Amino acid sequence: MTVWSNDQITHGRTIGIVPTMGFFHEGHLSLMRLAKARSDVVVVSLFVNPIQFGPGEDLDRYPRDFERDITLATGEGVDVVFAPETAAMYPEPILTTVHVGNLTDTLCGKSRPGHFDGVATVVAKIFNIVKPHLAVFGEKDFQQLAVIKRLVNDLNWDIEIIAHPIVRESDGLAMSSRNSYLSVDERNTALCLSKAIRYARSRVREGFRDADVLIEEIGRLLREHAGVTVEYVQVVDGQSLHDQQVIDNGSVLAIAVRLGRTRLIDNTILLQGD
Ligand code: AMP
Repeated sequence: MTVWSNDQITHGRTIGIVPTMGFFHEGHLSLMRLAKARSDVVVVSLFVNPIQFGPGEDLDRYPRDFERDITLATGEGVDVVFAPETAAMYPEPILTTVHVGNLTDTLCGKSRPGHFDGVATVVAKIFNIVKPHLAVFGEKDFQQLAVIKRLVNDLNWDIEIIAHPIVRESDGLAMSSRNSYLSVDERNTALCLSKAIRYARSRVREGFRDADVLIEEIGRLLREHAGVTVEYVQVVDGQSLHDQQVIDNGSVLAIAVRLGRTRLIDNTILLQGD
C-alpha cells in the first residue's frame, strides 16, 4: 500500500482516504464522493477493527460483504480498497496503542471503555500506511470525528480532516451498517431517534435553551417506545464535548439507545455557529 502511496506522492497527486468497516451504504458512498471531489486519488480502507470492539460486542456478527463493497467502491471511482488482514495490522502481542484523553471519557466512551483507543490506534496506523493528504469522516460518529481531529492536531500530522453530514434514509433513520440487525418492528421503532432529533431542533428553533429540560423531554420521548433502552442523551459543546446547561452556538445533542441487541446512535447540531 505504502509503495503505491509513495508513487502517487512522487507524481504530485493528493491522496484522500475514507476509513470504514465496510458493508457500504449511501453514507459511505457519499463520503467517497466527497473524497473524490477533494483529492486526485481515493483510498477506502475496509477493516473491521477488532480492538475497537469490547467483550460481548458485535465483532463476530458485524455485517460483511466484501464483493459487494468492492463493486460499490469501484462504481464511485475509488482507486484502491485497502483491506488488510487482522494479523498484518496487529502483530501479537499488541504493545502500542494510541489514547486521546478527555474527549473519550464521555458519551460513547463511557459505555464502550477502550473503544476510542482502538479507533485512534487503527486510524493512526492507516494514516501512516496510506499517507493521505485528507481524510473524510461522517458526522454520524460525531465523537469519533472530534477524537480524530484532536489526534491529528496533537500529533502534528499534515492531514486535513473533512466532515460529512449525516446521511439519512428517506424516513429519517441515520444510515448505519448496524441497521441490518434490526427486525421490521425494530426498524420502525428506530425512527424514535430521528423524531427526537427533529423535536429537539424545533424546540431550539423556538428559542428554548435549557439543556437539562430538553434532555429530560428527549429521554421521555425515547422511553415511550417499547424495547428502547436509553444509554445516554447529552447536550455537549461540539468541540470540547463537555456537558452544557445552556444551549448555544455549536451545542450538539447526542443520543445512544439499545434496541434489542442493536446499539444505535444519532446526533444533531442544535444551534449552528455564525
Ligand atoms: P463505519 O464503516 O460505520 O465505521 O463508518 C465509516 C465512516 O462512514 C465513518 O466516518 C462514519 O462516520 C461514516 N458514516 C457511517 N454512517 C454514516 C451516515 N449515515 N452518514 C454519514 N457518515 C456515515
